[in-house]
Amino acid sequence: MPDITRIRDQICQVGASLFDRGLTAGSSGNISVRLPGGGWLMTPTNASLGALDPARLSLFDASGRLISGDAPTKESFLHFSMYDERADAGAVVHLHSTHATAVSILRDVDPADVLPALTAYYVMRVGRLPLVPYFAPGDPDLAHAVRAMASRHHAVLLANHGPVVAGTTLANAQYAAEELEETAKLFLMLQNRARRDLTPEQVANLRARFNLT
Ligand SMILES: [Zn+2]
Repeated sequence: MPDITRIRDQICQVGASLFDRGLTAGSSGNISVRLPGGGWLMTPTNASLGALDPARLSLFDASGRLISGDAPTKESFLHFSMYDERADAGAVVHLHSTHATAVSILRDVDPADVLPALTAYYVMRVGRLPLVPYFAPGDPDLAHAVRAMASRHHAVLLANHGPVVAGTTLANAQYAAEELEETAKLFLMLQNRARRDLTPEQVANLRARFNLT
């Protein structure tokens, strides 16, 4: 099926691009795409995003059953939590990107909205970013916590772990994850400096102008 072949290649290209630019290291990070006819493609467990094999991506049917490819990432539940709560989610990108993860470890952040509105593109691509409390990898309570926030937020930050970002397309999820990482980097660069954030009025104007929720 040509559509799926093309999506397999896109996932591998995005993975290589993220890996080559240092946005995720080792075998960390994972990507999934909801398929047009139902089902999902997802990156496998213990796979580096820098060296994905399109033929070995985990293929799920519409009921979430693995039908071909390698075993999926152990963090597949993060992806399915997003898809279950967001009918508009066409793709999910999860990274352990350095600056976003650093911010997820800071003690004095607002857990309801971790990063300030530093730039218009951050507001447009990410918006409000809640912090999901820390749970050990594989703890079912982590899935529950993500699920509880996913209907209201397409991007969440897992404490002491990293971001999970959904998008209507793979490109949108990728761009939002990159915008989040760059904004986290700016935020850290500006620690202990007087900032001029976007005002609440400027943020409200962007939300109205671009139909953001
Ligand atoms: Zn992770």
